[in-house]
Amino acid sequence: MPGVAHVAVVGGGPAGLMAAEVLATAGLAVTVFERMPTVGRKLQVAGRGGLNLTHSEEREAFLDRYGPSRRYLSTALEAFDPTALRAWAHGLGQPTFVGSSGRVFPEGFRATALLRAWLIRLGSLGVQLRTRHQWNGWTPEGALTFTDPHGDPLVVAADASVLALGGASWPRTGSDGAWTTPLRAAGIEVRPWRAANSGCIVGWSEVFSHRFAGTPVKDVTVRHRQTSARGDLMITTDGLEGSPVYALCPALRATLDAGTPARVELDLFPQATPAEVVTRLARRRPTDSVATALARCGLSPVRIGLLREATANRPPSAPHPLAALLQALPFNVTASQPIARAISSAGGVALSAVNSSAMLRGRPGTFVAGEMLDWEAPTGGYLLQGAFSTGVAAAEGVLAWLATLRR
Ligand SMILES: Cc1cc2nc3c(=O)[nH]c(=O)nc-3n(C[C@H](O)[C@H](O)[C@H](O)COP(=O)(O)OP(=O)(O)OC[C@H]3O[C@@H](n4cnc5c(N)ncnc54)[C@H](O)[C@@H]3O)c2cc1C
Repeated sequence: MPGVAHVAVVGGGPAGLMAAEVLATAGLAVTVFERMPTVGRKLQVAGRGGLNLTHSEEREAFLDRYGPSRRYLSTALEAFDPTALRAWAHGLGQPTFVGSSGRVFPEGFRATALLRAWLIRLGSLGVQLRTRHQWNGWTPEGALTFTDPHGDPLVVAADASVLALGGASWPRTGSDGAWTTPLRAAGIEVRPWRAANSGCIVGWSEVFSHRFAGTPVKDVTVRHRQTSARGDLMITTDGLEGSPVYALCPALRATLDAGTPARVELDLFPQATPAEVVTRLARRRPTDSVATALARCGLSPVRIGLLREATANRPPSAPHPLAALLQALPFNVTASQPIARAISSAGGVALSAVNSSAMLRGRPGTFVAGEMLDWEAPTGGYLLQGAFSTGVAAAEGVLAWLATLRR
């Protein structure tokens, strides 16, 4: 198409597909290159337990979830905010609802229907999808180099490109983080990968692990130093998973990095005051064993198991020390789960390597979006919102940059 700028989008996740939609809507010729046989694999995985698209909390609290990256991300997050994202999903025939915790889900709950409708829309906008195309870097002249589905090299010279190559967690979805090699070789600062929103390794006794791995523990507050988070936990064979542990990830990482032992405390009665826990424990009858007494005050077997695990099977029997312990059960965290099992990753392209239009400072015409940028946020819809918003921002950056070239 003479006269129409051609943009290559590399990476077919939410960030790349969103960039492609904005660019194609603006009338540009867009090709999405994806290394896997299909696009949106991590989006599909994210949808398995319910696709948490974004969050409904008020603006300030919402932006704060992005921690130190808020400064860089807020323009993108406000230009394409949770309301815009929900309207977009609605436009794809996937109206959203707000769950009890303020999290936002499509009514279809999973990603499949949303992705199907999205791909139809992209097709109607003329977006070309080239799957099984692995991006490897640039030629000395700046063209993109790929390996095509036959294993042959392919060189693509585009007027601009958007890299949306994802992070390094769940590599089987295609996001293996291997793109860091060509970027570093091109002199772009890429921060080391770290597991984010990952479980932690506690190192249970064999008995506890065997009995309780895979058991949920509802409504627990987890504390580490000054940070705490409340939610549901899952016992794994060697540790803990779940949103409260994920939320403590940055703090735990900092402690472990400093080489100091990372201790977490579990409050098994987050809704009760210490006095209320003591009152519950006082329900113990003289003939009750410790186990019966604990069950009588409402502790499930897994909670009793946690108490026994934390006390080497010797919980105190007096109500006051027992109550104090039940609201601060100590466990030593030895490590984070490996990045391959984390929900997301920290690290990637340093935010200082991109300008306010999402363009790589050292590579005019190349824009970056999504999880491949070095930001992190807790679970709760903030990750996908960040990917979608930065996808829009990168596309807007391309449009503005191409406009300056035409002047
Ligand atoms: C189990 C799980 C559950 C999750 N649940 C949620 C949730 O409910 N809510 C939420 O907000 N977030 C969730 N997330 C996180 C969310 O899915 C990601 O943050 C989001 O997908 C990131 O989007 P992205 O487009 O930046 O990257 P990705 O979705 O990772 O897409 C990047 C794409 O680039 C491709 N690619 C990589 N390298 C190359 C290359 N060299 N050449 C060509 N293509 C390449 C990859 O194959 C991939 O398709 C979840 C993640 C996991 C793993």
